[in-house]
Amino acid sequence: MTAATVVASYGRQLLVRVDADASMLTAVTRGRRADVAVGDRVRLQLLGGGQAVVDDVEPRRNAFQRSDAHRAKLLAANLDQAAVVIAAEPAFSEELLVRILMAAEAEGIRIALIVNKSDLTQARALIEPRIAVYRALGYATFDCSAGADPSGTRAMLRPWLAGHSTLLLGESGMGKSTLINCLVPDAGLRTREISTALGTGRHTTTFTRRFQLPDDARQGCIVDSPGFQNFGLEHLSESERAHAMPEFRPLLGRCRFHNCTHRTEPGCAIREAAEREEIDARRYRIFTRLVDEAEAIARANPARGR
Ligand code: GDP
Ligand code: ZN
Repeated sequence: MTAATVVASYGRQLLVRVDADASMLTAVTRGRRADVAVGDRVRLQLLGGGQAVVDDVEPRRNAFQRSDAHRAKLLAANLDQAAVVIAAEPAFSEELLVRILMAAEAEGIRIALIVNKSDLTQARALIEPRIAVYRALGYATFDCSAGADPSGTRAMLRPWLAGHSTLLLGESGMGKSTLINCLVPDAGLRTREISTALGTGRHTTTFTRRFQLPDDARQGCIVDSPGFQNFGLEHLSESERAHAMPEFRPLLGRCRFHNCTHRTEPGCAIREAAEREEIDARRYRIFTRLVDEAEAIARANPARGR
């Protein structure tokens, strides 16, 4: 049995790095199994010619997931931390930001905000009140300009990235590719190599891949995930969803009804805290929309019953 780590995935097509000699092999999962992710530790059966089949996946420390009405989608496994890239221009979606942070909270994965394009000083100043909300919640925030000041950006982020496996997420347009190119000098070349090995076709970057950071980063690596249109949290239970909002935690259990959904119920400690502006009202509204959405999905798929 050969032990290896998954370094890129495109559906059932994987690229793995063998522990023993650091060689790269392409691998497939058995049957229709698609729940193997970048960062997974696997055991392989070698087929020869640089090909292998995944026989077994070791238990994961954690897994960053999003989901839709039908299934959970694994973005990456065995992470030390994650970061979401946002910017003032084009305007980032705060709803998407909240969803990503909740997915990380639910798995106990530390997550930071990378506020890119800080060289656009006027636009950056306009979003500062929103960024301050996240800083006050305890999220580390990094202000950088991957495009305008790559060396400053590297100097700022390297110490945080060093020695860790970090997943980068973000909507398109925020500068995630620019950031990766600034942190991983040969990212473009390596992406093309991975794309060839996985047979993804020339212009596709819809695969997740892990890049080793340069040597001074003490074996750190970053995992780049493709963009997504939506970021569902259907894999979370009602209680997990509420606990994924850090500012809700001290209030949970204080609502009048034990099965409170924290929307219109009388005596809801969370809604009342939002009304008194003790917790952020915008984040509270985003949360209630998520609960509405989960209810609508549950109504449309009664068999799932959660
Ligand atoms: P991605 O879709 O998140 O991968 O974003 P890209 O890296 O392709 O960047 C989107 C746009 O933002 C491009 O036009 C970049 O040149 C621009 N951009 C990236 N970083 C910065 C920055 O630090 N400052 C400014 N002003 N523009 C940037
Ligand atoms: Zn409540």
